[in-house]
Amino acid sequence: MASVELKNLGKRYGHAVAVDDVSLTIGHGQLVCLLGPSGCGKTTTLRLLAGFVEPSAGEILVGGKVLSSPQRTVPPEGRNMSMIFQSYALWPHMTVAENVAYGLRIRKMDKATVDAKLKAILSTARLEALAERYPGELSGGQQQRVSLARALVVEPETLLLDEPLSNLDANLREEMRFEIRRLHDRYRYTTVYVTHDQSEAMTTADLIAVMNLGRIEQLGTPKEIYDAPHSAFVARFIGGSNILSGKALDAGHVAIGGGTLATTGRPLVAGETVTVSIRQHEIEISTAAPSAANMLHGVVGRQVFLGASRDYTVALDDGTELRVTASPMQDIAPGREVWLRLPAERCRALMGGNDT
Ligand code: ATP
Repeated sequence: MASVELKNLGKRYGHAVAVDDVSLTIGHGQLVCLLGPSGCGKTTTLRLLAGFVEPSAGEILVGGKVLSSPQRTVPPEGRNMSMIFQSYALWPHMTVAENVAYGLRIRKMDKATVDAKLKAILSTARLEALAERYPGELSGGQQQRVSLARALVVEPETLLLDEPLSNLDANLREEMRFEIRRLHDRYRYTTVYVTHDQSEAMTTADLIAVMNLGRIEQLGTPKEIYDAPHSAFVARFIGGSNILSGKALDAGHVAIGGGTLATTGRPLVAGETVTVSIRQHEIEISTAAPSAANMLHGVVGRQVFLGASRDYTVALDDGTELRVTASPMQDIAPGREVWLRLPAERCRALMGGNDT
């Protein structure tokens, strides 16, 4: 059964369109990430789901019941949803245990039930040893675990997360991604998770909806989105792709970047404009003369040593610039002539020609 359904959802502010005809079905117990750059409409979609904002068009259904439509919107307190914000919003005068139990107490549960539920969630969230501390005595990651525990303990029908890790430092963010996924595997609440961070989405999500200009540009598993981006926007946003534009010679070849490349993906029509994506680390760079098919000639613009890799910018013969991630051992000076091998199975012809 679909737990949450967005049907042709839209939100306008005057002439500005924040969310544009978004349809999305989230299965019971699934975790879906709304992923996209700043301003693409992901927070507005989440606020529509929470009931903080009324839609201009379309509907939101939970368990088959309409909760939002332009005619009627059930207020946040009438929805069985928990929302976690960027700031942890813990009560400073309450201990960890009191913060977590608060939602149970206001639901007037008896003491034995509250104690049992509290004990279970503190154990799962690894907070037992911190139960009597106050928020001011916790690290950022610990505070965010408390805010997760507080949201989970009330057993919401739907869990909404708005950039929950953005206030943490990089190491902690990485650790907490796994923590969120672990808690999700344990409780399986239907979850919508908003983030602009690709790795966060890849680690936590069952499905990723990549958003652009208020619309869902592509929906798929992390692997589908990574392996088979439909558009140049998705290819660029996920996993650092180069985008090249050229003319199709036949169903599987493109004149591009001053040479010819065999492509994968969709069959081409001779003469059409084709957009091809290839990831930076899938390109091989060499100063040796061409030895295989699918090679393009260029000149190194700049290179940066990054420890685990070396980052090159190479200008092709037609002026197109490509980014290449190479081994740190491979040290080629700026100005040197190079040959780039772009494996045919990695040169993906995108839908719709020149989309960006
Ligand atoms: P961010 O990651 O920066 O939070 P976002 O993808 O969550 O971005 P939204 O906050 O949903 O994007 O905003 C989508 C668009 O709607 C933006 O262009 C924003 O300026 C506009 N918008 C959002 N809220 C309002 C509002 N209350 N009034 C007018 N415009 C708004």
